[in-house]
Amino acid sequence: MKILHISAECYPMAKVGGLGDVVGALPKYQSLQGMQSAVIVPMHRTAFLNSHHWNVVFKGEIKLGDTNVNYTIIKEADNSLGFELFCLDIFGLLDRDQVYGYSDDSLRFLAFQIATLNWLSSLSHPPDLLHLHDHHAGLIPFMIKYCFDFSKLIHLKTVFTIHNAAYQGWMDMALKNHLPHFDSWKTGLLLWNHQINSLACAVKCADSVTTVSPNYLKELTSKSYGLESLFQQEFHKCTGILNGIDEKVWSPETDEMIAKKYDVRHVDSGKTSNKNNLCNEFGLRADLPLIVFIGRLVYEKAADLLPAALLKAFTHFPNRFSCFVLGNGNPSIEQELIAIKTEFQDCYHAQITYDEKLSHRLYAGADFLLMPSRTEPCGLNQMYAMRYGTMPIVRNIGGLKDTVVDLNNENGFGICFDHLLEDEIVNAIARALDFYKAKKQLIAVRKSMMNINHSWHKSTNEYLDIYHSIL
Ligand code: ADP
Repeated sequence: MKILHISAECYPMAKVGGLGDVVGALPKYQSLQGMQSAVIVPMHRTAFLNSHHWNVVFKGEIKLGDTNVNYTIIKEADNSLGFELFCLDIFGLLDRDQVYGYSDDSLRFLAFQIATLNWLSSLSHPPDLLHLHDHHAGLIPFMIKYCFDFSKLIHLKTVFTIHNAAYQGWMDMALKNHLPHFDSWKTGLLLWNHQINSLACAVKCADSVTTVSPNYLKELTSKSYGLESLFQQEFHKCTGILNGIDEKVWSPETDEMIAKKYDVRHVDSGKTSNKNNLCNEFGLRADLPLIVFIGRLVYEKAADLLPAALLKAFTHFPNRFSCFVLGNGNPSIEQELIAIKTEFQDCYHAQITYDEKLSHRLYAGADFLLMPSRTEPCGLNQMYAMRYGTMPIVRNIGGLKDTVVDLNNENGFGICFDHLLEDEIVNAIARALDFYKAKKQLIAVRKSMMNINHSWHKSTNEYLDIYHSIL
């Protein structure tokens, strides 16, 4: 089976969050299971682009409104990721340093989608199926079905995976004129509330829709930023499939980014070495339990509640824990998080940046990982944490609910709370600090977390079932 994944991110070529991790891992595991899986992303100017060899495989031209636009497809020469990686370049439009955040993002991703389909139309052996990720590829099912230029692709099946329904790819109606000519009777499929909405369009037009956890799918029918009725209506073709973790990247036995590698038998000494290494470098007390937060500092992650909750916890439990925050995002949250340092010098640090290596060191060195998220489509952090024997403290929401079992239950290994309140976060921290004292139990729980199977093999089979069902 030949599958092409179409996405804005693919680790390690380009990663902003979990989408990058998934698109960097799923095709690798699909290839291992004998599928011919490839990925295409826009040609972002990242370190990976500059440090790898590429071959030009196609040059073409599309019309974007009244303008003719040239594009080039390059392919990573060595298949070093375990699958074929293609990048699509449009001079001045896609060859940018950042993945997102430009005022013309709508146009950029529209051009990416049109050029990708233009390229696929030229192939004598196109893929059997397109696997589309998030709204950046959301107009493709519509274009395949209704744009006359792509009639050659009309039999191509599409699976659309929602990694985050908060970002829907709203576009001004004027951009409709940038699409290749299409059956105008179908215009309504592009729209939601009189605007183009790429995510809604994909849910309507794709052959199958998946979300990155079963619980998130349920939540979308009652809370999806205005698309609730759409999810209710299309529920029959939606499936929740939990993300896996890429054990080739996230494993304390083999992780080259951490100070000391360790396996499940040596989890205690391994974590202590990694914690000491971190605490020495950042001037934190290593004798205290270490709680970390890793993630985008945005409303969705409840990062806005973090400064007040941490201050409260430090005040209630003085000299009882250290905390390390790694993230960037909302500037005022960043400032509030930096400010905490002045009061709690030796037990608090905020590193306001994106740092892949530091994130690995934190998963390995921390005792607890805090994720109070407002919404969490799947959440990978908690699964990485468990793989490194770090106990998750999470809100009972989305994929967190599917993956973390509270300590109060049989075989439980995490700390869960229901309501998004500062006090609930503080209480959850209190539970963590209490549990930390029971050293024997703590080590047992660490071991059992490390043994949980989060590998991609299971999810890969679930995706395969979906591919078979629509082909
Ligand atoms: P989301 O995609 O919503 O940001 P996920 O939990 O699905 O959340 O995935 C987050 C991914 O991004 C994880 O791999 C996490 O380690 C990584 N990450 C987030 N923020 C940072 C950061 N500041 N530095 C390094 N890695 C980060």
